[in-house]
Amino acid sequence: MLNLILFGPPGSGKGTQAAKLIEKYGLLHISTGDLFRYEIENGTPLGLKAEEFMSKGELVPDEITIGMLKNKVNDNPEVNGIIFDGFPRTLAQAEALDRFLAEKCLSITALIALDVPDEEIVQRILSRGETSGRSDDNDESIIRNRIFVYNEETAPIYNYYAESGKSIMIEGVGSVDVIFNRLTATIESVC
Ligand code: AMP
Repeated sequence: MLNLILFGPPGSGKGTQAAKLIEKYGLLHISTGDLFRYEIENGTPLGLKAEEFMSKGELVPDEITIGMLKNKVNDNPEVNGIIFDGFPRTLAQAEALDRFLAEKCLSITALIALDVPDEEIVQRILSRGETSGRSDDNDESIIRNRIFVYNEETAPIYNYYAESGKSIMIEGVGSVDVIFNRLTATIESVC
């Protein structure tokens, strides 16, 4: 099984690239952000709780996020592999993911990080906000908080997987196709 973490700050292109990668490799795409937005649209208790944090650009608490992620993986036992997009976002989530996969005799194949400078991120998210309908994409102070939270809580996950030689950084600036080619070359070098 090819289990990839597509890593990088908000707005680095993870969702766009994940959509292309699942088509090429036949993988399951799990975006915790998309799962939360689905719960919000349906007005579920989980969605209501998640919205409190998402609307401020903060992280949804680990126990809620990890539980939701495990359910999604358990609901799809027959897949060739998984692209994790937007998860893990804390070291506790990374450790929980590794334990959960190990119980199934599985593991993360690689973490591939898209490197995009902060100012480029702000501009990309603001322009995505014109069409995405996401309230967290429209307010610059919320966007900057999301980047701050990423640098504080999420970025250390790169070093966590680097300890087992699994982290790879690629240039995340360029056209969608150029970045996709960089990603597929990287994936083919690890599997
Ligand atoms: P995204 O669509 O990945 O940009 O996520 C949008 C928002 O959902 C984030 O700003 C967080 O509030 C929340 N979120 C998504 N994934 C996670 C996660 N793994 N842990 C905590 N919060 C998350």
